[in-house]
Amino acid sequence: MLLSRVGYIRPSSLPEAVQALQAHDNARVLAGGQTMINVMKTRFATPDVVVDLVDVPGLASIEARADGALTLGSMVTYDAIDHSDKVRGARAVLSEVATVIADQQVRNRGTIGGNICASDPTNHFPPVMVALGASMTIVGMDGERTVDAADFFAGVYMTAVEPGEVLTGIAIPAPASNQGDAFEAITIGTEGTCIVNVAVSLRCNGTIEDAHVVVGCVSATPVPATGIEEALNGSAPTPQNIDAAISGFAPSLDPPGDVHASAEYRSHLAEVVTRRAVTAAVGKAVS
Ligand SMILES: Cc1cc2nc3c(=O)[nH]c(=O)nc-3n(C[C@H](O)[C@H](O)[C@H](O)COP(=O)(O)OP(=O)(O)OC[C@H]3O[C@@H](n4cnc5c(N)ncnc54)[C@H](O)[C@@H]3O)c2cc1C
Repeated sequence: MLLSRVGYIRPSSLPEAVQALQAHDNARVLAGGQTMINVMKTRFATPDVVVDLVDVPGLASIEARADGALTLGSMVTYDAIDHSDKVRGARAVLSEVATVIADQQVRNRGTIGGNICASDPTNHFPPVMVALGASMTIVGMDGERTVDAADFFAGVYMTAVEPGEVLTGIAIPAPASNQGDAFEAITIGTEGTCIVNVAVSLRCNGTIEDAHVVVGCVSATPVPATGIEEALNGSAPTPQNIDAAISGFAPSLDPPGDVHASAEYRSHLAEVVTRRAVTAAVGKAVS
């Protein structure tokens, strides 16, 4: 289906972008367009105006502090994350995820900000952001505010970004010593849509500490597996302890079923993938 007629604004500064969004009742941000243009073609979204952020200075920058803390501008593409030495040096899991999203054309255009603002339950980055304890910077007419990733995702296609606001950046904390981050997924095809995905970040100093285990695709928003986190914290990183912490996770979930996986099978996959992700994170933390 072809696009409907739509107004196009290409501001050259952040205040201009916010002004343009505020000035039109039915305006939407355009980032990489890899979701937005498709939902406009299907008439699922029918904005009168799109405000393209491509010329707004600073939004495509990647900054790394000496301690490994990262700030990703919202317009940083998956391809840039994949090829950034700063990202690979600080939190390599971000590059590992970026490199498996869809195909090279999508990775050239799709942005980290668009990925999380779309809040598609099957997208790769939402659980990663929650597991890493990221925080999002949002700018509107009233200034700037910061929202933790755990509070950012509000529902399918809904986030803490209000109409008239722009997500400008994502701050990722520095890893601690002996930190292990991992992402595992079951996808439709090699680089396809996720049926289940799991992000894990934990520390291992003899015992597992500060475990964050976050499951995607099983609810409207990423689900922290708090029972697993509590069981892992303080335990020795043995396969037996990991298995004991995760066994019985599947029945606690209530995911949707679809043509790719029934609800019961998706719950089963979530338990399997969580075991893989925790095992991988422990492996990275102790290596
Ligand atoms: C063939 C194909 C396969 C795909 N497979 C996957 C996949 O397996 N995994 C995956 O994670 N993704 C997948 N995607 C989606 C892709 O990752 C999109 O890039 C992503 O969902 C949206 O990012 P974008 O930069 O293209 O944002 P856009 O499509 O431009 O915007 C998406 C939404 O976010 C809003 N938005 C964007 N940026 C901002 C901002 N800075 N501030 C406020 N609001 C903003 C827009 O208004 C819009 O509502 C796929 C896309 C395609 C076309």
